[in-house]
Amino acid sequence: CGVAGVWGPAGHHAAVVREMLVALQHRGQESAGIAVGTGDALVARHGAGTVSEALPDLEGLPLGPVAVGHVRYATHGTRDALAGAQPVVLDRPPLALAHNGTLVDPHTAPGADAVDLGEWFTDSELLTRLLLAARAQKGLDTVAALHAVLPGLKGAYALVVSDGHRLYGVRDPHGFRPLAVGRRGDTWLLASETAAITAVGGDVVRELEPGEVLSIGPQGTASSRLEVPDAKTAACLFEYVYFARADSHLSGRSVYQARFRAGQALADHAPVDGSPRPVVVATPETARVAADGYAERAGLTVVQGLLRPGQGGRSFIARDQEARHHAVRRKLSPVPAAVAGRRVVLVDDSLVRGTTMRTVARMLRDAGALEVHLRVASPPYRWPCFYGIDTGRPEELLAARLSMTELAGQLDCDSVAFLSLDRLLEAAGGDRSGYCTACLTGRYPTATPAGAFPAPAC
Ligand code: SF4
Repeated sequence: CGVAGVWGPAGHHAAVVREMLVALQHRGQESAGIAVGTGDALVARHGAGTVSEALPDLEGLPLGPVAVGHVRYATHGTRDALAGAQPVVLDRPPLALAHNGTLVDPHTAPGADAVDLGEWFTDSELLTRLLLAARAQKGLDTVAALHAVLPGLKGAYALVVSDGHRLYGVRDPHGFRPLAVGRRGDTWLLASETAAITAVGGDVVRELEPGEVLSIGPQGTASSRLEVPDAKTAACLFEYVYFARADSHLSGRSVYQARFRAGQALADHAPVDGSPRPVVVATPETARVAADGYAERAGLTVVQGLLRPGQGGRSFIARDQEARHHAVRRKLSPVPAAVAGRRVVLVDDSLVRGTTMRTVARMLRDAGALEVHLRVASPPYRWPCFYGIDTGRPEELLAARLSMTELAGQLDCDSVAFLSLDRLLEAAGGDRSGYCTACLTGRYPTATPAGAFPAPAC
């Protein structure tokens, strides 16, 4: 999911949030919503689909000092696009919450038993109800309610919240999901990615620290920390590989550079020798940067062997296997003039279910490619994610159950090679121990959901 928020002198902040949501569209296409705070009330609009489908205009959304927005990609709770749309908005007292991430076993959170299970559809809605209960029953202000409720939760949450007056940004103590703060004149901006701040002409001030609660309002900003002892930073490595935009920065590091370096390391580690010299083809769009890095290091040429003619959406975040397969066929088209009679190094950023790859390799062969050698700029995904990325169930993860030779056969490729975890961490940069690598290693930074799977030997 993607979250965004604006606080400033009353203006049409909904329009700014909408623009930011468009910049975050790659993070979720199932639904979108915006809530505007007018002081003592919140007015919201939600819809199914992309931002332009869900919010074709801003009719009915008033002017006000604060606005919160969300684009959704469902990883928990209802798959009904509209029922799961966010921000979750509740009143008495008013509260709007936009959530990126997934809570682990949310029903076991302190106070969850007092919330009628029939009343909530998603972990985000339960979270909003817990915060509201803390405010209404215990008389806490919003910051105190956040501090009272959030330390009792497990899992991933980057939140943008408003009570109608102020804007709040929160990152969970592990910092699984990103959240950045920026400014445009006298207006403050919060967004999942720095690219959404620069997209509206804002300057990135900084990224929130793991466990930070940032409050923004007429009296300025105030920062505090959630009290969760021993929570180690575990920023999602997958954000660098696939999820974030290449023009974003995460923990101050360029996503573009991380992907380019990963491509270079892949060329060092898994060259494709022999003649005729191969050409490099990227699976559009996220693998383009890694493919450039691979070609630069290997001294090969990148050709546009695959086109993405329209806005077919991201197949990875399509709802199910069937939808993903059709999404690939709709969104990609091979270019015979670029690949016919040539050996192809096909570079992808990741291999999760293999849906895209199986279809793409077949397309390239049908277009006349002599050989297809798959090079993947991350290690095989072998474990499910419980922190906000729907990598699928263990039985769906292709590399979890097949050898490399079997994998090449299944994917209709002549050879398959992956980047090692060490090299990927090197490419991402920073403190290696500060990343979550659970889907690659099976080492989870938190307890896993009860009954998720038998404990793996890792
Ligand atoms: Fe990211 Fe994988 Fe960790 Fe999920 S399990 S947060 S996808 S690194």
